[in-house]
Amino acid sequence: MTKKDILVLGAGMIGTCTALQLALRGHAVVLLDRREPGRETSYGNAGIIQCEAVEPYPFPQDPAVLLRMALRRGADAHYHLGALPALVPALWRYWRHSRAPLYERVAHEYGQLTSRSVLAHAPLIELAGAQDLVRREGYRYVFRTQAALDDQARTAERLQRDAGVNFRVLDSDALAAAEPALRRRLAGALQWTDPWSVSDPGALVQRYADLLVRQGGRIVRGDAATLRQTGAGWQVRSEEGPMEAAHAVIALGPWSDQAIRGLGYRYPLFVKRGYHRHYRGAQGPDLPLLDAERGFVLAPMALGVRLTTGAEFARLDAPATPVQMGRAEALARELLDLPEPVEAEPWLGARPCTGDLKPVIGPAPRHKGLWFHFGHAHQGFTMGPISAQLLAEQIDGTAPVVDPTPYLPARFGA
Ligand SMILES: Cc1cc2nc3c(=O)[nH]c(=O)nc-3n(C[C@H](O)[C@H](O)[C@H](O)COP(=O)(O)OP(=O)(O)OC[C@H]3O[C@@H](n4cnc5c(N)ncnc54)[C@H](O)[C@@H]3O)c2cc1C
Repeated sequence: MTKKDILVLGAGMIGTCTALQLALRGHAVVLLDRREPGRETSYGNAGIIQCEAVEPYPFPQDPAVLLRMALRRGADAHYHLGALPALVPALWRYWRHSRAPLYERVAHEYGQLTSRSVLAHAPLIELAGAQDLVRREGYRYVFRTQAALDDQARTAERLQRDAGVNFRVLDSDALAAAEPALRRRLAGALQWTDPWSVSDPGALVQRYADLLVRQGGRIVRGDAATLRQTGAGWQVRSEEGPMEAAHAVIALGPWSDQAIRGLGYRYPLFVKRGYHRHYRGAQGPDLPLLDAERGFVLAPMALGVRLTTGAEFARLDAPATPVQMGRAEALARELLDLPEPVEAEPWLGARPCTGDLKPVIGPAPRHKGLWFHFGHAHQGFTMGPISAQLLAEQIDGTAPVVDPTPYLPARFGA
C-alpha cells in the first residue's frame, strides 16, 4: 500500500479515530484542532458506546409527544423559535426519513455501523491502555410506569430478533437491588447488556490521541478555516507553520457545516444541542441510567454523576438557554440525592446531525483528495472507530468493512 500524507481536521472522537486508523495503516498523519483532542462534543456526552442503537432516533411521530415538544414543556426537547425557519429544510428531511418506508432502510444502514461499534473500540482501548476508563456491563433504561416498560420490552424483543441486540428486564425489586442509590421505587428497567460505557469520554479521546502519537502521527494546533487547495493537494496553517498533504479529512463535528459551505457544498446539516452538569459526592448509579419517560441520562463519571439533557434545536452559536437542564435536574432529584452541581453554568455541546439521519463518510464530490467525515448525531462517540475504519478503507481503496454507499457525501448531490 502506498503511504499517503493526510491532514485530519478536527480532533473529536471522529477525527481522532480517523487519524488513528490511518496511522495504524502506515500513513503519515497530521491531526489539527484549535484545542486539545476531545474537548468539545466528544468531551461532554454520556459516554455510552451504544452498540444496541441499531436504529437512529427518529423524529417523534406521536401527536402527544409532538404537542409537548411544540409547547416546549418537557425536559427531552427544546427549540429556539428564531432558529426554526433556517432549520425547516433539514427538519423536513429528518421527518420524512423517520417514517415508513424510508426509516426501515435508514435504520438498517445505521445499524451496520453501530452494531460493530464495541468490536471496533475494543482493540483501540486495548492498544491505548484505556481499560481503566471502561465499564462493560451495559446501561439501563429506567421506567416510571409499567406500560412504558412493557412497550420498550416489546421493541427490545424485536431488535433482539432482527439485529441480535441483547437485554434483560429488571422488575421493580430487581432494579431497587441493582441500583441502591435510587431514592424511589420505579416500575423497573430494561438493561441493554452489550454496550460499554466510559467514566471520562474526553479522556478516552485523549488516550486515542496519545496512541496516535506513539504510532508516529502528529497533533498540531491551528484553524481549519485556513484550509486551501494547492497544486499538490491541501494546505492548512498551524501554530507550527503551514501543513501540506495530498489528502485532507473534514471531521469538524458540528462545525463541519461552516467548513464545507466555504467550499460550496450545501448539505442538510443541523445541530441538536445538549447540556450537562456534574454532582460530586452523590451516591451515583451503578450504570448509566436513561429516564426513558422523561428524557435525560444520569451517568457515573470520574467527575461525579453527570446529568445530560436531550435535544435543543437552536443555532450552533446561539447563547445557552439551559431550560431543559433545570427541568432535568428537578426530575433527576426524584431519582437520586444530588448535591449542588460542580459547574456554575452547565456545559453546552452540539450533536452534529444530518437530514437523513446517517453520517457522512467518504470523498467530497467535487474536490480531489478531500474527504468528509461528520454528522454522527447522537452516536458519534459510539461510531468513531468503525466509521473511521470505513473512511480509511475508502482512502486506501481496500475492501470495506460494510458497503460505504449509504453514507457517501454524494447522496446530497455535488
Ligand atoms: C449531551 C450529549 C450526550 C451524548 N451522549 C452520547 C453517548 O452516550 N454516546 C454516543 O455515542 N454519542 C453521544 N453523543 C453524541 C456524540 O458526543 C457526538 O456524536 C460526537 O462527540 C461527535 O464527535 P465529532 O468528533 O464529530 O465532534 P467534536 O467532538 O465536536 O469534534 C469536532 C472538533 O473540531 C474542532 N474544530 C471545530 N472548528 C475548528 C476549526 N475551525 N479549527 C480547528 N478545529 C476546529 C473542535 O475543537 C473539536 O475538537 C452525545 C452528545 C451530547 C451533546
